[in-house]
Amino acid sequence: MPKITFNNRDHLFFRSVKNSVEAYFQNNRLKKTGNWKLYLKAIILIPMGITTYIWLLVGDYSWPVGILLSVFFGFTLVCIAFNVMHDACHGSYSGKKWVNEFMGLSMNVLGSNAFIWKIKHNIIHHTYTNIDGVDDDIANGPLLRQCITQKWMPIHRYQFIYMFLLYSVSTIAWMWGTDFYKYFAKKIHTTAINKIGAGQHFLFWVSKVLYVFFYAVVPVYFLGWQAWLTGFLILHVTMGLVLSVVFQLAHVVEKTSFDAVAKNNKIIASEWAVHEVRTTADFAPRNKVVSWLVGGLNFQIEHHLFPHISHVHYPALSRIIRKQCELFGLPYHYYPTLRQAIYSHVRLMKQLGRNYK
Ligand SMILES: [Zn+2]
Repeated sequence: MPKITFNNRDHLFFRSVKNSVEAYFQNNRLKKTGNWKLYLKAIILIPMGITTYIWLLVGDYSWPVGILLSVFFGFTLVCIAFNVMHDACHGSYSGKKWVNEFMGLSMNVLGSNAFIWKIKHNIIHHTYTNIDGVDDDIANGPLLRQCITQKWMPIHRYQFIYMFLLYSVSTIAWMWGTDFYKYFAKKIHTTAINKIGAGQHFLFWVSKVLYVFFYAVVPVYFLGWQAWLTGFLILHVTMGLVLSVVFQLAHVVEKTSFDAVAKNNKIIASEWAVHEVRTTADFAPRNKVVSWLVGGLNFQIEHHLFPHISHVHYPALSRIIRKQCELFGLPYHYYPTLRQAIYSHVRLMKQLGRNYK
């Protein structure tokens, strides 16, 4: 991976915004990690996921209800990923390290791997956001052109339509494909995974075997392979679509900016926090239902600046950060509604599909 250096010498913006955020927590005597609001989500979502799984296996239902149940199961799993896994893997779910480690393993229960995710997401994506050549989140293969520095192909003219198909199969590709590729290549896009300890090797394989057992062997035993395959595909289409769209809306929209590195090292003129603000957007900040379901992923500016603070605090932090951005003459990108953000993503992908560079 080429070396990327931010101009962090004075980091005036981050220092100022950090002081304001610290003052908020001190004045209100709050912990930065999760609180009852977060734990209530876990108490609702996790049993909901388990109950739906058992009901799918042993319940007496018609096939249309089976389809709805599979969609519901996929949606519940995604909500667990947004609300529990994401905070836990960032270490913001609880003040106790072991609780974060344990709840972070929900990523393995969903079919992926917490260890690989933490490198891909916490380190690479959170540091080098929207930098083509390093950020794995915008490196989704030649069929998707997510910024102008990526090679254009004629088929990209239609990417704003077929991208939804690709999103639909993204979690199948992730759990059954790219996880293994990253594990064996010891590489996430252009970043090497330095060391995988014995414990992580063990967890990787045990989780994948258990995944196949609980998501394929057991359901085939109870339902037969045809019903299982149908349900399994519906589950993944739901997960893939919701996960991809929510993550894309944070960075791949018209208002955000992109950068790129090739083989040479690069110095970025701004401090890291300014880079994060420019490359990230919020959406539907006033929509309480969206905010509850996506686990603060609609407050991505707040999350990217303070990933170690639980998402339950982001609505309050957004007011502070917005003011700070104004003070420093920085943009504060946001889309008032979910629909506006989705339209912006589609429009950007349509623009990038034209060979206009
Ligand atoms: Zn994150």
